Amino acid sequence: MKVLIAGGAGFIGSHLCDRLLSDGHEVICVDNLITGSKKNIKHNLANSRFSFIEFDVAEGILQLDGNLDYIVNLASPASPVDYQKYPIETLKVGALGTLNTLELARRKKAKYLFSSTSEVYGDPDVSPQAETYWGRVNPVGSRSQYDESKRFAEALIVAYRKKHSLDAKIVRIFNTYGPRMRKNDGRVVPNFICQALTGKPLTIYGDGAQTRSFCYIDDLVEGIVKMMFAKEAGPINLGNQDEFTIRELANKISKIINRKLSVTKQKLPPDDPKQRCPDITLAKRHLKWQPKIKLQEGLVKTIEWFKEIR
Ligand code: UDP
Repeated sequence: MKVLIAGGAGFIGSHLCDRLLSDGHEVICVDNLITGSKKNIKHNLANSRFSFIEFDVAEGILQLDGNLDYIVNLASPASPVDYQKYPIETLKVGALGTLNTLELARRKKAKYLFSSTSEVYGDPDVSPQAETYWGRVNPVGSRSQYDESKRFAEALIVAYRKKHSLDAKIVRIFNTYGPRMRKNDGRVVPNFICQALTGKPLTIYGDGAQTRSFCYIDDLVEGIVKMMFAKEAGPINLGNQDEFTIRELANKISKIINRKLSVTKQKLPPDDPKQRCPDITLAKRHLKWQPKIKLQEGLVKTIEWFKEIR
């Protein structure tokens, strides 16, 4: 198959490029490189089944000759620090980028998969979060640029399904970590690892009792690929169900690095969800998917990678 991956030079996108290439597909990687990086894809540039186009999908419909079988749209800043730095770009890529790539899929008669997010559930008052939960999002809050752009995109996809019978799917991705996260992307896993490796205190926001459920990148990519080829349209949650407090995460990382590390408490950012844990009943049932890599194992691999790039 010929697959276009929007956001293909990002953290998740570049791993999906690798996986689809190794499965024998042709991959067109499209990225505007605001948070993605050529470093993530450089090992594929010599592959004749791989091509890279620097392009912002929010700016128009990509002119592409020939056929196209699939579009996977992963394009968006995804860390709170990034999307707060690029609020308008984030809203544009969720809204216009999704519109433009859906239109390209319609013209090419390609299938489509959209990466939505656990952030559509906002600061949830139910846990774990199932796909039937409508969420608790502050529409003018400090995360709204990301949350609302993804919510709008989901609605647009549903409209394209209805109006144009487009085969368009939605996955809702929960916290994911692994090699190729940027050192300075501001998310908790790269922050703690980089602080721990340089002997700095770990920055815990708030009291550290808030929870997240961390999925290793290889597990997530497997889930995305299963969804691409499933009958199911979603939305389907993809994430790891093992829930940890941020304090527990800090302790785990300190233990693996084997250093006694101090912590500094910093202000909890506004609208920071107090808990997050996916209900993955649907993914288990329809995709026969569930994460295999435990947090301990995934952190060891991720820490090794961060050590190498230092
Ligand atoms: N966090 C933290 N210290 C950091 C970075 C993040 O305590 O240096 C907390 C953050 O407040 C949130 C959780 O870790 O409660 C996960 O943050 P992240 O930015 O990784 O992703 P989010 O799930 O909030 O989008």
